[in-house]
Amino acid sequence: MAQVHLLRDAESPGFEEALEAELEDAGFKQGMTVAVKLHMGEGKGMFRPELAKRAVSVLTGLGCKPFLFDTIVMYPGPRHIKAGYKANALLHGFTENKMGCPVMISDDYVTLKTAHMDVEVSKEMAEADAMLVLTHFKGHDCASFGGSIKNLGMGCASPKSKRDQHKLGMPKVNEKCTACHICEEVCPFKVIKVKDKCVINESRCMGCDTCYYNCPHDALEISVNFETLLCEAAWAALKSLEGKPVYYVNDVRHITKHCDCFPFPGDPVAKDVGIVMTSDIVAADKASLDLSIKQEGKDFYKELHHHDPYLSIKEAQRQGMGKEEYSLVEI
Ligand code: SF4
Ligand code: SF4
Repeated sequence: MAQVHLLRDAESPGFEEALEAELEDAGFKQGMTVAVKLHMGEGKGMFRPELAKRAVSVLTGLGCKPFLFDTIVMYPGPRHIKAGYKANALLHGFTENKMGCPVMISDDYVTLKTAHMDVEVSKEMAEADAMLVLTHFKGHDCASFGGSIKNLGMGCASPKSKRDQHKLGMPKVNEKCTACHICEEVCPFKVIKVKDKCVINESRCMGCDTCYYNCPHDALEISVNFETLLCEAAWAALKSLEGKPVYYVNDVRHITKHCDCFPFPGDPVAKDVGIVMTSDIVAADKASLDLSIKQEGKDFYKELHHHDPYLSIKEAQRQGMGKEEYSLVEI
C-alpha cells in the first residue's frame, strides 16, 4: 500500500525536506536526467512556478539534471505550436533563468500500443532517466477532476493522441431517445440539441460521455469510455519509462471548476487542501479527491460535472497503474 504524504502548509520547508527524502527513496540519483512534467498555463491556471522552482532545487540538490517539459495541445491557441507555448511559458515565469533548469516544449514522440489506441508520447520524456510529475489538482470537464492521471494521459501525448482520447468514446444516439433534454442540460460543451431526438454535434463533441451517464432511457451508446482512453494514454506514458523512478506531487490548492487548459478556469470551488506526494499515481489522485471531498463534506466534482470522479481511479487501478488504497501521513 502506498504511503501518501500530506503537507497542509505548502510554504513550509517541510516540502523540500519531504520531497528530498521521498525522491531518494524512489531511486532518484546523482547524474540522472529527470523529466519534470507540468502544465505551464493556457491562461490563469497552471502548476505554480514558485513551487516548480522549489522542486527543481530539490532535484539539483540531489545531483539530478532536471528539465521542465510539456507537450503542445490539439486545439487552436497559443499552445498549439512550440513557439506559442514557449511564449506562454515565458509569460508565466517558466524560463531557464528563473527555474534553474532547461524548459522544453516537446513535439517529438514514440508510439506505444494500448487496447484502443496507438499512443504517441513525448520522446524527451521517454529518454529521461526518471520523471517527477507536478500537477495542479482541479476540476475537469471530461473526467470531473484533473490530477496526475490526466497530467500524464493528456499531458504527455501528441495532439493526435489527445484527439483520439476525446473522439473514440463519442456516444451514438439510438431509437430509445424520448427527447427528454437531460443530455442537453448536462453536456459541458453545449454541443447537443434536442428537438424530436438528441442530436450531437460530432465535430465539437469532446467525448466526455457525461450525456451517456445521465441519460435515463439508455438512448446513448458508447464503445469505450473517456476514462479508459485517458488511463490507457497515462499507462503508455508510464510504460515508456518502465523500470525508471517516477514520483507525483499534486498541488491541491486553488481548486477550480475547469482545468488549466481553459483561459479562465474560474474562481476556487473548494478550500485548499495542501500538497499531496506519493510514488503511486492512483493513490495520488485518490487521496487528493478524498481529502478535498471530505473537507467540503460533499462530492462537489460530481455536482459540478454530473460525472463520477472516481471512474478514472478505478480504471487506472484496473489497468495496473497503481492501487487506490493508501495510508496517509501528515507532515
Ligand atoms: S437524455 Fe437520453 S433520452 Fe433524453 S434526450 Fe438525451 S439521449 Fe434522448
Ligand atoms: S460526450 Fe456527450 S456530454 Fe460530452 S461533449 Fe459529447 S455530447 Fe457533450
